[in-house]
Amino acid sequence: MSKLFCCTQCGNFRGLFPLYCEYCGSQDLPVAHTNFIKVDIEKGLPLVEEAIHTFETYLVRAEELGVRALLILHGYGSSGQGGKIRRHFRELLEANQWANRVNEYYFGEELRSLSSLKITAQLKKELEKERFVSNPGCTLLLLKHIHLSFVSEINA
Ligand SMILES: [Zn+2]
Repeated sequence: MSKLFCCTQCGNFRGLFPLYCEYCGSQDLPVAHTNFIKVDIEKGLPLVEEAIHTFETYLVRAEELGVRALLILHGYGSSGQGGKIRRHFRELLEANQWANRVNEYYFGEELRSLSSLKITAQLKKELEKERFVSNPGCTLLLLKHIHLSFVSEINA
């Protein structure tokens, strides 16, 4: 995972994980320099349950860090484990399994352009670099907005 977060203590780049800074050990929330992250839940050929668990771990962490969108790469194999992950992930999504954190979702193959999305210009700019429009191997999730000051109140 690319290092798009910064340690508030030492200033080094951090990823979403681990939960502490690998340079100084700080467990403070890092500062996000991005509005979205990509999560490959098919990587390493996991079982369906493992892939869903990976997704949920990232979902919770992304919300905690104020990330607005998650691009989930689940593959699109019509058979085998890849196809199962995609099918199961989307079934849970449609059953509102994560409705407490996910505001809207778009299946890659149903997205024709970003212009129909109600997202900020900055997020649009970041997403334009990604090749997921008309791509059946991914799903875009827009998360519910948790204001950062609210997060810091919880941590105070
Ligand atoms: Zn640090």
